[in-house]
Amino acid sequence: MQEKDLNLASRMGRIEGSGVRRMFELVSSMKNPINLSIGQADYDAPSEMKEAAIRAIHEGKNKYTVTEGIPALVEGVLNRIEKREGFRPESAFMTSGVSGGLLLSVLALIDPGDLVLLPDPYFVMYKNVLEMVGAELAFFDLYPKEPGAGWRVHPDELVRLFARKPKLVLVNSPSNPTGGILSSETLDLFTELASKEGTWILSDEIYDHFSYDGPFPSMIPRMQQHERSIVLGGFSKTWGVPGWRLGWALGPDAILDKMRLLQQYTFVCCPTPLQYGALMGIERDMSEELEAYRKKRDLVFDGLRDFYDLEKTEGSFYAFPAYPKGWTETEFIQACLERRLLVVPGSAFSKRATHFRISFATNEKSLQEGIEVLRSLVK
Ligand code: PMP
Repeated sequence: MQEKDLNLASRMGRIEGSGVRRMFELVSSMKNPINLSIGQADYDAPSEMKEAAIRAIHEGKNKYTVTEGIPALVEGVLNRIEKREGFRPESAFMTSGVSGGLLLSVLALIDPGDLVLLPDPYFVMYKNVLEMVGAELAFFDLYPKEPGAGWRVHPDELVRLFARKPKLVLVNSPSNPTGGILSSETLDLFTELASKEGTWILSDEIYDHFSYDGPFPSMIPRMQQHERSIVLGGFSKTWGVPGWRLGWALGPDAILDKMRLLQQYTFVCCPTPLQYGALMGIERDMSEELEAYRKKRDLVFDGLRDFYDLEKTEGSFYAFPAYPKGWTETEFIQACLERRLLVVPGSAFSKRATHFRISFATNEKSLQEGIEVLRSLVK
């Protein structure tokens, strides 16, 4: 069948194939790629989690759970958050990853034509999910004002955008793809402007664990000042289980109740045995894994800082350097591919095509090889 014969819904015309997925497809056709394009930790799940999941299957815990997830897991998530942030959100439930939480939030809040603010660069899913529901998008710029200035908001621009009374603002810190972390002052500014305009804040904190220079500022305690807040987090990255599809949503009970209602008719519930597996991991200390990632962050920054315009990664496991002068995106990505190196073109995450994403979520050997290739391109 040809595309014109499919008689598709109009929303399909607004959705783009993900640049990251295309890299995934390329990997399968390449021999020995140096793969710095992957958005998942390279370590495996803790064995006690895997064993608990297998045990749950053998014990017959293979039926549906309640929509919101097994109570012990929801409680475990809330306890973990409260211990870290000194504040316990009113309500929580388990989502089908942060991706599921994003979709449910947007379905619950956004009508066609509603104005939504999101960062540029952004995680690819944001733009496409918002396009699915017909939102009007406006971007706030995060690009460094000058090399070394970091990935920061421009307060004047935020004030201008909030004056348009957006329904929702999407915030992501630590960030994919920039590796930046938003400061407490910036989160306070979002909170203040959103309170003034009645805007919902949706904060994606999936990389909460990957903060390299001290604790990262979270939107969670700010929920006390601004009730219209939803914070999403999950198991995928920290615990090395992106295939388990387990995340959580935190926020006021009234809005989470609407999202749970939507979950009943979409995802139904998270995979039952994997919820039991996750329960075993929630209290586990993952600082060893974090320490290894801090080393990788340093390796990338020290290896490339003299060759590229590059902000030091503060959180997540990405770096987002600028293309060297004189190169177009296509030329640069092509030159990388010819050297078996996979990185993701920045235009997959942005209106601009000036930067590219390196994921350092891989072994040290690949990382060293990749850094060598990148250095050789500008030597
Ligand atoms: N948000 C961000 C910023 C991400 O990078 C990712 C994964 N690449 C997700 C959400 C999706 O996470 P999950 O596996 O929990 O759906």
